[in-house]
Amino acid sequence: MKNFSELGVEESILNAIQELGFENPTPIQEQTIPVFLETERDILGLAQTGTGKTAAFGLPILQLINPAARHIQSLVICPTRELCMQISRDLESYSKQKRGINIVSVYGGSSIERQISEIKRGAHIIVATPGRLMDLMKRKAISISEVNFVVLDEADEMLNMGFEEDVEYILGHTPEQKRVCLFSATMPKEIRRIANRYMKEPVEISVGKSNSGNVNITHQYAVVHARDKYAALKRYVDFHSDNLYCIIFCTTKIETQDISDKLIKDGYNADCLHGDLSQGQREKVMNRFRHHTVKILLATDVAARGIDVSGLTHVIHYHLPDEIENYTHRSGRTGRAGNLGISFTLLHMREGGRLKDIERLSNIKFEKIMIPSAMQVRDKKLLAFTDTIVNTEIEESIFDEKVMAGMAGLMALEKEEILKKFLSLELRRFSVDFTNEPDLNINPNERGERSAAGKEGSSRGYKGTRIFVSLGKKDGFDIRSFKDWVASSAGISWKDLHVDVSGVYSFVDAKAEHVDSIIKSLNGGTYNDRPVRAEVSGDTKGGSGGGSSRYGGNRRSEGGGGYGGGSRERSYSRSSDSRGGDRERGGDRERGGDRGGERSYGSKRSFGGDSGGGERKPRRRSY
Ligand code: AMP
Repeated sequence: MKNFSELGVEESILNAIQELGFENPTPIQEQTIPVFLETERDILGLAQTGTGKTAAFGLPILQLINPAARHIQSLVICPTRELCMQISRDLESYSKQKRGINIVSVYGGSSIERQISEIKRGAHIIVATPGRLMDLMKRKAISISEVNFVVLDEADEMLNMGFEEDVEYILGHTPEQKRVCLFSATMPKEIRRIANRYMKEPVEISVGKSNSGNVNITHQYAVVHARDKYAALKRYVDFHSDNLYCIIFCTTKIETQDISDKLIKDGYNADCLHGDLSQGQREKVMNRFRHHTVKILLATDVAARGIDVSGLTHVIHYHLPDEIENYTHRSGRTGRAGNLGISFTLLHMREGGRLKDIERLSNIKFEKIMIPSAMQVRDKKLLAFTDTIVNTEIEESIFDEKVMAGMAGLMALEKEEILKKFLSLELRRFSVDFTNEPDLNINPNERGERSAAGKEGSSRGYKGTRIFVSLGKKDGFDIRSFKDWVASSAGISWKDLHVDVSGVYSFVDAKAEHVDSIIKSLNGGTYNDRPVRAEVSGDTKGGSGGGSSRYGGNRRSEGGGGYGGGSRERSYSRSSDSRGGDRERGGDRERGGDRGGERSYGSKRSFGGDSGGGERKPRRRSY
């Protein structure tokens, strides 16, 4: 293997990347850099995020820029703002020791005037999303007629997001004499067509699927009922909570927001990233995630494109992606730099076939795991807590006379009593009656039934629509009293209800004809001065209830089952309209920057089939 210097990388850049810790080139860099530096050829690269492709094109481009020539010499076009910012940041860091190169990034969702003035001050490299670049071209605020290099990064994603015409418009305004370098994770025929039309006999470089061969990633899945997905997710997260730092992938913006809201409400340290957030909100979320202030990030595939964070312990697929390549894309975010990573998929029964497809086409071997039982979670938490106490160093300096006097009450207790009290306190923090939580795994021999252990749980084989109610044991309820209260409030028989009562919330399983009366009678009221929220829960939504309260409500952690805080700075005041619109192509350029690209399902959600569903009918992509 050649090192960077042998590939022809100049000293100032070598120094900068050494500082970044790049010791040896990655395969895509090893193949791409010499073609850039030693030939005049175009490059067609099949490579995914995480392979080091930014440096593969970035290093030679920086080297070939002439800082003295004050015109735009290179254009890097990519699908999202995040990626745009990421690429600019990377290029800045590679060129830290090479003076006089100006890199300007232009993308939607940020002031166009500011970008125009930055361009006017002189730019050698423009990193752009197609929509904003086209806007600038039409305003005659930018000239790309003298570019030497055009890089199309994540070209397949740009097509997915409906940017094909924009990309062609841009390419049509570049000079005949230029080099084109196109990177794509997949090679559909539309990409081939663009390559044939705009590239001259490109050198084709492929580094294979970045993570199918990544031995550091373990691929796991568990099968649960669609209606139990959220509970299973929490269980899994709880079980791994001592070192969890993960991205949870959802399919739609609404689902991403919903699950994030629920997790925050349940006390988890989560936040979300999707195309409906403003630029400022996204940046805030990413900063918090990068700095580990937020440990769980929910994201759509598109929003996660530009994210480059290291050290993810897990990638969780709340739903499998529509496109198989996206599975490898998603999971390739963990298991980097020699670290071990887990890619975990939560499946419901009807998703099994897709998993097999991924297994076959991506050459990945999945391992089936069971969702841990509540007792297993409890034991693990206790163990972690005990470990923390055992490993805590005593700071003698704190224990002055006053403190010791204040501890007199503790001193009077027996050692065992103190321990039990400590552990009880810790367990109470989770507000879950661990002994009374159902098993969430499906017994494959009893399709549609819970596994045997689950039958001991309180929610044995429930059917119907699940309603979330924001009251629980903390409000003095048990199963019986809660059932009675719901039944009498809604004027129905308690025999028609099934309930699960947890710490700060509960679920009611009701027949479809009772759902409206239950929600109407409970939602918006108060119980012992505590506001009551009742809405159709997560995956079993049948169309009633829910409403905009999910976005407007109290986002503060209620001290529930998770770990860490859940406070949240953002507050949304979206109307129900903004949940509905289909932004698949449209998007608001200023907010969404460029097009949304994510599927958005309105209040009329198209959950497939029976009420246990939660599986969406795939929409057709735009190509
Ligand atoms: P990319 O595929 O360009 O998004 O890069 C993925 C990650 O790998 C980024 O965090 C880069 O900083 C890092 N990276 C790129 N090239 C190298 C290299 N040769 N050695 C170590 N890390 C690298």
